Amino acid sequence: RATDVVVLGAGPAGLVLGNLLQNRGVDCVVLERAERAHIQTRARAGFLAANTVRILERHGLAEGLRRHGQAHSTCEFRSADGRFRLDYGGLGRGERHTVYPQQLLVTDLLTRFLAVGGRVEFGTEAVAVLDADTDRPSVTVREADGRPGRWGARYVAGCDGRHGAARRSLPTGTVRRHHCDHGVTWLGLLAEAPPSMDAVGYAVHERGFAGHMARTSEITRYYVQCARGTAADSWSEQRIWDELDLRMRGAEYGPLHRGRVVQRAVVDLESDVLEPLRHGSLFLAGDAAGLVSPSAAKGANLAVLEAEILADALADDLVHRDSKGLDAYSARCLPYIWRAQEFSHWMIRLLHGGPGGHGGHGSSEGWSDGSAGGASPFHDSLRRSRIDSLRTSRS
Ligand code: FAD
Repeated sequence: RATDVVVLGAGPAGLVLGNLLQNRGVDCVVLERAERAHIQTRARAGFLAANTVRILERHGLAEGLRRHGQAHSTCEFRSADGRFRLDYGGLGRGERHTVYPQQLLVTDLLTRFLAVGGRVEFGTEAVAVLDADTDRPSVTVREADGRPGRWGARYVAGCDGRHGAARRSLPTGTVRRHHCDHGVTWLGLLAEAPPSMDAVGYAVHERGFAGHMARTSEITRYYVQCARGTAADSWSEQRIWDELDLRMRGAEYGPLHRGRVVQRAVVDLESDVLEPLRHGSLFLAGDAAGLVSPSAAKGANLAVLEAEILADALADDLVHRDSKGLDAYSARCLPYIWRAQEFSHWMIRLLHGGPGGHGGHGSSEGWSDGSAGGASPFHDSLRRSRIDSLRTSRS
């Protein structure tokens, strides 16, 4: 089978790309390993930046988030030095986030894509991208019924995440990988509990970091720093809530609204950037192009931004025979990716101090530069100073 663009993966990157290609009259297919119900219920990101919302609005993809998303612009920091609120919506360009769970965004993007005639092959796993250094690449697949198959194309867009076939298919030496292990691990949780405050909550505690992020009126995401190597199911619900309450200083500022923990995942905070984001006819976008640690809530936002840039470039080439956009794709995206990495790195230092992180309850991990784990009193004081400057400085 053949088409102009084979898109691997029906996450935010692949579905924004599919919609925009469809809008521009470019023939494409999206291959997705999972079943439809799975991608429509997979809870991950929730905070969409103002620019992401503008992109989605520009292409008629923002109806759901306009109707059901909630504006958000306040963080609360809690530590041994007390608590304060940072109304970032009142600073800089005055921009806010829109809280809209990723699975709802994916559902909107998918519904719209299918409604305008888009094709998604669910249950179809891309195995490898072949001949990417020619103008006739192809993708070998395992079809839903288990049989092997193949899609031919002019271009392949790798939007299949960090462990996808696009990354695996890059020949050694063609693309450089920058990687940083921040030496910090979070247990990410979704709880069937209403938010406990009307702000993103960041708690710095001697036992480690804890975070609170609203999702909907019934669901809240929490993060709790844990030791590297912790198994996701090794903490009981009682232990999770007790630890969250302790670190978020519930005794001083009010107890958390508890509820059933419905999803848990261990996240090692890592950063990863590929450079360039292209190998011949294969282009990378979203998590396939670079992984930003969830400390900065940037991943889904970058995925949408890169998908728009890539869609324009592919359409210019395929419709108008103008390849300048494709030639410039990597150079256009990388500054945004590095800016997000820089912010995420800054957030990790803000919340965890120096190498090895703050607290972590027995963690012994080090940074990838080999330095020893455990924040020193020096790094701890730097962290306090960073938080204090957020409290006091308006610049
Ligand atoms: P994905 O969403 O991972 O989609 C890739 C798709 O490809 C998947 O559907 C997968 O099934 C499919 N696939 C994989 N391999 C294959 C294959 N071989 N063949 C076919 N299909 C394949 N980001 C934010 O911006 N804000 C946040 O608040 C935020 N919070 C997060 C919280 C958590 C706990 C996590 C884990 C991430 C969070 N992120 C956040 C990051 C964000 O979820 C990702 O950056 C985003 O999903 C990337 O989109 P994507 O389309 O590139 O990849």
